[in-house]
Amino acid sequence: MDDIKSISDAVMPVIEQRIGAAPAIFNLWFGEVELISLSDTEAVFVAPTELKKKILITKYIHQMGNALEDVIGFTVEVKIVSRDELEEVEEFIEDDDDEDDIPVPDPTEEDDGKEEIISEFISGASDKPSMLDNYTFDNFVVGSSNTFAKAACMAVAKEPTVYNPLFIYGNSGLGKTHLLYAIINYMKHNHPNLKIVYKKCETFLAELIEALQAGFVAPFKEKYRRCDVLLIDDIQFLAGKEMTQEEFFHTFSALYESDKQIILTSDRPPKDIKPLSDRLKSRFEGGLLADVQPPNFELRIAIIRKKADDIGLTISNEMVEYMAERLQNNIRQIEGALKRLYAVCSFTATSVTKDKVDEVISIIDPGNIPADAMIERILGSVSKHYGVDIESMKSKKKTDSIAKARHVAIYLIRNMTSLTLKEIGGIFDRNHATVMASIDYVELNMRTVNGYEREIKQLKKEIKG
Ligand code: ADP
Ligand code: MG
Repeated sequence: MDDIKSISDAVMPVIEQRIGAAPAIFNLWFGEVELISLSDTEAVFVAPTELKKKILITKYIHQMGNALEDVIGFTVEVKIVSRDELEEVEEFIEDDDDEDDIPVPDPTEEDDGKEEIISEFISGASDKPSMLDNYTFDNFVVGSSNTFAKAACMAVAKEPTVYNPLFIYGNSGLGKTHLLYAIINYMKHNHPNLKIVYKKCETFLAELIEALQAGFVAPFKEKYRRCDVLLIDDIQFLAGKEMTQEEFFHTFSALYESDKQIILTSDRPPKDIKPLSDRLKSRFEGGLLADVQPPNFELRIAIIRKKADDIGLTISNEMVEYMAERLQNNIRQIEGALKRLYAVCSFTATSVTKDKVDEVISIIDPGNIPADAMIERILGSVSKHYGVDIESMKSKKKTDSIAKARHVAIYLIRNMTSLTLKEIGGIFDRNHATVMASIDYVELNMRTVNGYEREIKQLKKEIKG
């Protein structure tokens, strides 16, 4: 049963992504939907009420199927039942039902404006609060690529405005949103009185446009200026949006001047967000900039180990290392791969093998091919390009044309795979020093021979396909 729950948890965000509806709409229809059974041919979701079941069947069943396929890696027929039906058929026992048919957005709790902002934050985060709780400082794994960013976030979480604004940047899938959520979680526990507003930049933009269209901008401004901590995720979306930049600038300044904490994330540093007004750029640069870099091998291993343990996936060290070699640039991808592996292996009651890892990676990252397949491609392309057959490249022959092709093949393997010099030497039956010499040869030519660099780049492009 545990298995099905984690697949259910994994699939809901994918459904949300596929549907692309506003979080409130998504929660309305999917808030209490769960995957309750899965075989190799059929999946059953349960909806809390008849009405919701009907809506899901008429509007979303297709996307639910696709999302599930994303997660488990194979196609199944999707069925949706209501809680009532389930109870009739299976005497499914849960705590008492009487779910109301009316969608309840929950305007609960105390007043004082705080709650409103917190719920605002939750809907903006487009995650159920329980999911949000998963993103903490404790479960953020650190290595040299992200220690500084984490430390900066912790400093701000502990003592807001020590660094203001805090600007975190780095490629997608490297933990920026995780860090923002960790700050929020920390603050909710340790500074419960702070009014926190979290927004994805796109939501901020959408709200502003809506307010402008309705001719009713004051409440919008008011909401943002009333908070103590403002977190805007993916601020790069401000690029080129002049009017929004203008509005954001005023919000920013108002908060900043009244000593409120501002935390921003972006997929690039402020100087590369273009076009961005100079004054905003200098505001962004006026605080602390912290970057997150792609994880190195050790950190990837640590993350894979931890995430596998978290979801209860048994995986050998050898396979952990293999995954760490193949998935280098994106922690989100690593997580996705582990969840799929978990699904595939738990259904077939088999263990994680290299073939399964390859299969899962080919689905989540089609451009990422295994080293042996990559080597084959490189040898094939180089052979064709220079008219030298692969056997000759691997042989001891030293003819000029053969040696040239061999140098290039060696260089490309070094450049496009994570093989060590020694492993490359193994392919060509040569020692480590010879491999180095080939690489030097190509690098030197790229710098000095006209057109050579272009040729190598062209080859690389062909190989990537
Ligand atoms: P970004 O916002 O930079 O695109 P996210 O914060 O959404 O990336 O991270 C993608 C996924 O990877 C999340 O599920 C997150 O929990 C996980 N992740 C990223 N970095 C780490 C880390 N250092 N330790 C643990 N999980 C991480
Ligand atoms: Mg993010």
